[in-house]
Amino acid sequence: MHNNTAISELIEAGKWISQQGWVPATGGNFSARTNTSFVVTASGFDKGQLGTHTFIELDHQGNRQAGAAKPSAETELHLSMYKLIPTANFVLHTHSVAATVLSRIIKGHSLNLQGYEMQKSLRGVTSHLDILSIPIFDNDQNIDRLSLLVSDHHLHTPIEHGVLIRGHGLYVVGRDIREVRRQLEGLEFLFSCELERLKFSGQQAEVTL
Ligand SMILES: [Zn+2]
Repeated sequence: MHNNTAISELIEAGKWISQQGWVPATGGNFSARTNTSFVVTASGFDKGQLGTHTFIELDHQGNRQAGAAKPSAETELHLSMYKLIPTANFVLHTHSVAATVLSRIIKGHSLNLQGYEMQKSLRGVTSHLDILSIPIFDNDQNIDRLSLLVSDHHLHTPIEHGVLIRGHGLYVVGRDIREVRRQLEGLEFLFSCELERLKFSGQQAEVTL
């Protein structure tokens, strides 16, 4: 995939994600792994109004190659995800209400979902009876430290679809733009369902999964 293709797909995805309300107030960031490098959104732009000038190109070591703007502070976490998951070519990071709230309600280190047909929107999941487990990491302004935690976790429990950062949001990966968008939409749907279920069940104690 060429840089220009990746950028136009991320611009398009940004409009859709913004319309869903998952990247309020310049929150979130997106990236892609291309033939030659990585492209990542610059800091401080509305993700619904991205343009070619709002992307930065990085080499495989994460050094800036092109783009005058400032890389997002969370770039390091994107690069870690690509390193850990060789099949990932896109990473979308969102700040939705459901991901933010659910990751705070759950006190454990993972969100375990079962019983939802929509789990099948995630790669490799074939039944609502499977347990879909999304790791949760405590938020940290030190992104290097957070990246290290994610990498350590991956050694014993490989990350498949993405991770939640507590009180912050979701990082989701995909092999191509269609897969990453489908997985993002699937997960956001599941988070919203789980949040509703917990509200109705009123059993917050059970969420220490
Ligand atoms: Zn963020």
